[in-house]
Amino acid sequence: MDSAILDHRPHEESALQGASGYLTIDLGALARNYEKLSAEVAPAQAAAVVKADAYGLGAERVARKLYEHGCRHFFVAQFVEAERLRPLLSPDAAIFVLNGLQPGNEIPCAEGGIVPVINSLEQLQQWASATAHLKRRLPAVLQFDTGMSRLGVPPQDRAALSAILKTCGMVEILFMMSHLASADDAGSEQNGEQLAEMHRVAEEFPEFDICFANSGGVFLGNSYHGALARPGIALYGGAPTAGKPNPMEPVVRLDVAVVQTRTVPAGTRVGYGATYVTARETRLATIAAGYADGLPRSLSNRGAVYCDGVRLPMVGRVSMDSITVDVSTLPEGRLGFGSLVEVLGPNQTLEDVARDAGTISYEILTGLGHRYHRLYR
Ligand SMILES: *Cc1c(COP(=O)(O)O)cnc(C)c1O
Repeated sequence: MDSAILDHRPHEESALQGASGYLTIDLGALARNYEKLSAEVAPAQAAAVVKADAYGLGAERVARKLYEHGCRHFFVAQFVEAERLRPLLSPDAAIFVLNGLQPGNEIPCAEGGIVPVINSLEQLQQWASATAHLKRRLPAVLQFDTGMSRLGVPPQDRAALSAILKTCGMVEILFMMSHLASADDAGSEQNGEQLAEMHRVAEEFPEFDICFANSGGVFLGNSYHGALARPGIALYGGAPTAGKPNPMEPVVRLDVAVVQTRTVPAGTRVGYGATYVTARETRLATIAAGYADGLPRSLSNRGAVYCDGVRLPMVGRVSMDSITVDVSTLPEGRLGFGSLVEVLGPNQTLEDVARDAGTISYEILTGLGHRYHRLYR
């Protein structure tokens, strides 16, 4: 848990520049997480999943940093994300689109040097038509559904797939992939079942390399690694396995500015709907971030922020742009206009906030929004 980012606080004076908060993104920690995951899966390689703007942290900065550290395989979810990223990365970096082709975008995809994940027979035929149209070989990743029922060729289509592939000599399959539904739960039976199904697929299509493990899968052991792993959340410091110590380094820190403080008597209502009423004289601070900044309304009367290691509970409802916290346990005058409080940092992890909000670290991270001032280190 000790890392440079946790010790680093943005200078309090900089809060006067007008930002509501500071989202500090430690690119060094990101790179070390990538190296750790690469070592874990070696001799397999590690790709980077940079969908949803690298889980909210900035796909451009993240992908470039990881490229410098040897990453050559990048996964996004949507074609538009790949289009944006393509000119920023050198041609020897492959960009894969997890959702695959959309109707009519096969030519822009091919001409843009973007590699679709083929999830269905229809997408395969569409990509084959692009090879015929452009009269050249085109790369693809082939996805199989091994038990998640979300994306990929289902078991009953495998025979037809095999037949169609024989007519698609110009489609070059770089990897065959599948996705684990319960990899964050190391004890789930579903992991072994999906692995067994992946092995059956591999027997039917022995010529292709396997791409299988997400962050959780990386820590399920060698048998899950295939030739290429696809971690996302672990790169960004999220815990890959629920209920186990997090082996990754934190990458984000979030500090939010105080807008106003006040002392109120016992019996004072706080926030929308008056869901909190003070039991005694209370010192309150209102901070400049709310649910529009990715701090979910479900944190109302549950979540907290920190100052000097002291927990400051959120009182009343989370508003769109602000949250009120009880600062009575701090020395008087410790927090004032423009002071910063810690939302994510040494005292509070992504998983802590997610638990209080009744969600997962992924949703907190991808929701952090664009009103914070971003500091890349
Ligand atoms: C999002 C995603 C990943 C990355 O998952 P993490 O749990 O964040 O490591 C990998 N593969 C697929 C298909 C995904 O959708």
